[in-house]
Amino acid sequence: MGFRTGIGFDAHRFAEGRRLVLGGVGIDHPLGLAGHSDADVLCHAIADALLGAAGLEDIGHYFPDSDPRWQDADSTLLLAEAARLAGEAGCRVANVDAVVVAEEPKIAPHREAMRARLAEAIGVPVSSVSVRGTTTEGMGFTGRGEGIAAMAVTLLECGGAGPDKP
Ligand code: MG
Repeated sequence: MGFRTGIGFDAHRFAEGRRLVLGGVGIDHPLGLAGHSDADVLCHAIADALLGAAGLEDIGHYFPDSDPRWQDADSTLLLAEAARLAGEAGCRVANVDAVVVAEEPKIAPHREAMRARLAEAIGVPVSSVSVRGTTTEGMGFTGRGEGIAAMAVTLLECGGAGPDKP
């Protein structure tokens, strides 16, 4: 048995005519995010953290922009698949912590709904998933309202036929 941490980061640009989805939760906002899937930056950052912790390839390897299967896809499905791959690599998710960086919308009113959706997709109790929001006080691309970024860390407990085991 061993503990492994993973880190994930993602950013998507705001786009008109798109539904904003963060952490699997649809949010009433004038702009959505551009992307091949539903552009859920929070799901993507967490998925990449899970894959990284499990010693697997990155998110683009498993869910390429060129794959029509993931076009406008619900990213909680992508997250569930990343969690399944980590499990297949012999890892169990201990916890996930994530931060959404955006000037708007405010994350707090949606936090509990996001935690529930993310926990369900990953297959862990809600208590194992934390989501917080922050701003960059007007600085940088999120501060200028050009898009939303998310970062995530995860702790996995791995054993058996892990990715680096013979
Ligand atoms: Mg992405």
